[in-house]
Amino acid sequence: MNSKIRNIFRLITCLAVLTQPARLCAQNLDASYMSAGGKLRPLQAIMDIRHNTLALDVDIKNQSIDGYMETDLILSKSTDTLLFDLVHLLRVHAIEVDKGKAEFVQTGDSIFVLNKAGFNAGKHTVRISYGGKPPVAVRPPWTGGFTWTTDKAGNPWVAISVQLQGAKMYYPCKDHPSDEPNEGVDMFITIPRGLSVAGPGLLQSVKNVANNKAVWHWKTNYTISNYCVVFDIAKYKVYTRPYTTVEGHQVPIQFYVLEVDSAQAREVLNIRARDTRILEKYFGEYPWYKEKIGIAEVPNSGMEHQTMITYGGENFNYKKYPGFNYSPNLFHEFTHEWWANKVTNKDWAHMWIQEGITTYAEALFFKETLGDAAYDSVMVSQHAGIRSQKPVVQAEELDMANVYNGDVYSKGSFFMHTLRHVIGDSVFFPALKKFVTDVKFPYDRFFTTKDMQVYFNTVSGKNLDALFDFYLRTTNTMDFELKQNRPDTWTLSIKNSPMDLPVDIQTSAGIIKTNIAANKSTPFRIISKTQPIVDPHGWYFKKVIIQ
Ligand SMILES: [Zn+2]
Repeated sequence: MNSKIRNIFRLITCLAVLTQPARLCAQNLDASYMSAGGKLRPLQAIMDIRHNTLALDVDIKNQSIDGYMETDLILSKSTDTLLFDLVHLLRVHAIEVDKGKAEFVQTGDSIFVLNKAGFNAGKHTVRISYGGKPPVAVRPPWTGGFTWTTDKAGNPWVAISVQLQGAKMYYPCKDHPSDEPNEGVDMFITIPRGLSVAGPGLLQSVKNVANNKAVWHWKTNYTISNYCVVFDIAKYKVYTRPYTTVEGHQVPIQFYVLEVDSAQAREVLNIRARDTRILEKYFGEYPWYKEKIGIAEVPNSGMEHQTMITYGGENFNYKKYPGFNYSPNLFHEFTHEWWANKVTNKDWAHMWIQEGITTYAEALFFKETLGDAAYDSVMVSQHAGIRSQKPVVQAEELDMANVYNGDVYSKGSFFMHTLRHVIGDSVFFPALKKFVTDVKFPYDRFFTTKDMQVYFNTVSGKNLDALFDFYLRTTNTMDFELKQNRPDTWTLSIKNSPMDLPVDIQTSAGIIKTNIAANKSTPFRIISKTQPIVDPHGWYFKKVIIQ
């Protein structure tokens, strides 16, 4: 069933039984229809989230959580209703606004906080006490929720993955990528003593409390995406090595590895240091140098949780290359610290900015380690992976379920490759780095495709709008038709091209460098004893029909 129809159906069911919603709606344990983001609702558009404090007691045996989320927010205008998102499986016990008891209605996956007299414009603190059994992850990290499992030694191992379904899967929030808590997040996670919590930012304290439990306080002062506000619990050991950023800042690399996998720690730290150095070369200083470069081992393939990216699923079986190991999963999630966590898309419709450029970084890794031919072979395989069933950018303000597909990765990446050729290395590479590091683009800014378009037009001095549209807003390929007229004479017709672009043609006499016009009607004559090869380097997403 289409996820939207399913959502509406479930909401109607819940509304119809509003007198006893907890009992009946709780029977619907499926939360896989949920999707992050979408159209920003007016009640949430007036809220600017400033800071979150998440305090949860995690009952591993019962697979439940209990506690509160306290949110500091600024209302841009007065309202009689505040709206938060929370999966229906978790029940709200009480809500306080500015330390006073507040009326509320919890229905479906929404919480409406009500005040007939109105909440004035300005700053408010909302504390939502809640608890219950959060959704269990069906196929983490994609169909997410909580993973409750054990390590090889039988110790509890808990991980959270909520990027696709949204942080509302486990805490009350404004579940939209365009707003992050500007002043960061405090997390107080209570767990059985003897286990550890891996979280974002810096560990402030671990305090023993009653019932043989301990409270782990993690704090980040940086702005952070909702889905990165997560924690992992395990019998972890922490391995650390120092790292000096390209700008000279000292930041620790910390690996929260399962105690049973301790022998793997050294190589992960080595890989992390090397990959960070390469990523800094292309994208600038590690963005979160005031806190840490964190990694936590989890029982899934990993996610870009800010300052504590997660890693797992490969069983430490790296790809082997002469002189080095490579982990595609580690490298991908590392790269997201720049593209996703620092440069964040404003809504999921523009997810290619995060995933496409992160995927492109894989080619840059091989350019750096094995040379240009290795870069080229990555791009050939990414070209082959483009499906072109839907445009990469289909519209504006889309939720994750309508956006997520492979082309956001492969075609988004291939677009960067084409752009590199069109504007040239001397413009492209500095521009890419500047986009991440420029103080004009601070940590709390969000980006759309249009923002990137305007930026690359400015830095290149070219109008690239048609190229952006062609690659990102259509499923078209550049179409060429090559026809042999005589044994050594050919004509090349350009059937479809977004704009004037530089194209190489390989002939028996060498490479011809030419420019093709958009939808050029006059065929291009080529003299070659061998069949010419259009775009032999493979810079373009194209089809060549040989007649
Ligand atoms: Zn990714």
